[in-house]
Amino acid sequence: MMDTNPRLTLDPVQMTALGDDAVRAVVDHYISLPDRPIGATSTATELGDILHEPLPAQGDDPHKVLDVVRERVLSQIVAQDHPRYFATVPSASNFVAVVADTLASGFNVFAGNWAEGSGPAAVELAALRWLREMCGLPEGGGLFTTGGSMANLTALATARYNRLGDRGLARGTLYVTEQSHSCFIRSARILGMEPEQLRMVPTREDLTMDVAALREMLRADRAEGWRPFCVVANVGTTRTAAVDPLPELARVCREEEIWLHGDGAFGAAAAIIPEGRRALSGIEELDSLSIDPHKWWFQPFEIGGLLVKDARTLRDTYRVVPDYLADLDADENEINFYDHGIQLTRSFRALKLWMSLKTFGADSFRAAVDGAFRRAERLAGRIVAEPGWRVETGPQLATLTFRYTGGSPGGEGGTEALNEVNRAIADHTMASNRIGLHTTAVHGRTVLRICMINPRTTAQDEDALLDVLREAVRAVVPAERQGA
Ligand SMILES: *Cc1c(COP(=O)(O)O)cnc(C)c1O
Repeated sequence: MMDTNPRLTLDPVQMTALGDDAVRAVVDHYISLPDRPIGATSTATELGDILHEPLPAQGDDPHKVLDVVRERVLSQIVAQDHPRYFATVPSASNFVAVVADTLASGFNVFAGNWAEGSGPAAVELAALRWLREMCGLPEGGGLFTTGGSMANLTALATARYNRLGDRGLARGTLYVTEQSHSCFIRSARILGMEPEQLRMVPTREDLTMDVAALREMLRADRAEGWRPFCVVANVGTTRTAAVDPLPELARVCREEEIWLHGDGAFGAAAAIIPEGRRALSGIEELDSLSIDPHKWWFQPFEIGGLLVKDARTLRDTYRVVPDYLADLDADENEINFYDHGIQLTRSFRALKLWMSLKTFGADSFRAAVDGAFRRAERLAGRIVAEPGWRVETGPQLATLTFRYTGGSPGGEGGTEALNEVNRAIADHTMASNRIGLHTTAVHGRTVLRICMINPRTTAQDEDALLDVLREAVRAVVPAERQGA
């Protein structure tokens, strides 16, 4: 189309035509999802044309480029918003939020400070206030981040600064369980902690933190001169949605003057319905809580959130005012979000949550979360009724783990043989490309895991899941041992 375009522009007619095509592609994606396979993954060899394409010195027609994007790039993804994608933590997304992301990007909003983005800052503050209100949390501070890992890191650095100050990290200790998300190991590395400063607290049979063991560890660590600064409570683990005993942990941390952070990246969203709020009782006592709207609050990637009890703790940790930003300094009401977190330049990710809530209303979000609880319960009942299947954990926060035992809980041939059978069933299920599901481990047992939080999952999708599981058993388990 063009040789060179040194101003990097399209004219208004071209912009509109390209935008129309892109929007149409997104709408096609939405309406075709239920009838499509879960997704596709190519090998590096198959993607060689992209991997090794020479740098284009000259441009091309943007519609042609868009065609390549559709056919060669966006075709090679596993759809996290597919109604039969039950693996990891699905992200159902929603079209209003997609439009919001387009606007945030189209207006190239700088959401770092009040002076240069007062409207966006007000929207972010309002969205955070709504989030707290929906979860039944007291007033406080917070900000939106790229995701849960970043929210957790932001919280840990705050906990560390708040409890240990600028010095003292070398003797600081942080407490998690082996059920905690892997991002805490990474966070500890980023914070410059040595491996022994990250303490693994034992868990109980239900995979939640053993509070008596925590108390004992704190006592022993202090006796050795360590300085415990933060306990991380799981507010819905990724594996089984286990929730640590928050009220008890709050008591321990209050007595011991330790920061209590809750990792609710997946689970905290459930607090918007009474049943979920009961399961998470105690979250109001946390010093900080992370929550991922790009998981159970139906937002496209990326948006995570961090809420803190006291906004000043973020400001104390992150505020640094160099001369080149001194003209833009702000007070505690008209805040600069770059004073509250790691990023200076920030995109306007609050807009999508705010626009989704205004468009659909909080009651729609509540109904969507409630629907997830109901679907998971229904599925658990159906799995229990299937010959040879056993529910291992849940349904807890719309998450269920289960496995095929062929009738004997220990399984014939022992745990390892049964683990292999369940891995094979999972492989067969994934290969069908009709269901997205992964395995995880519960007390050394390989289990299939389902997270049923997509509000567009239908009864037919649930039927399809059971059909595929039965097919997998037929394919993997010898006939004489099926459903014994
Ligand atoms: C997903 C998840 C994270 C990480 O969040 P990202 O948004 O993927 O960075 C952390 N903790 C828990 C419990 C999670 O489920």
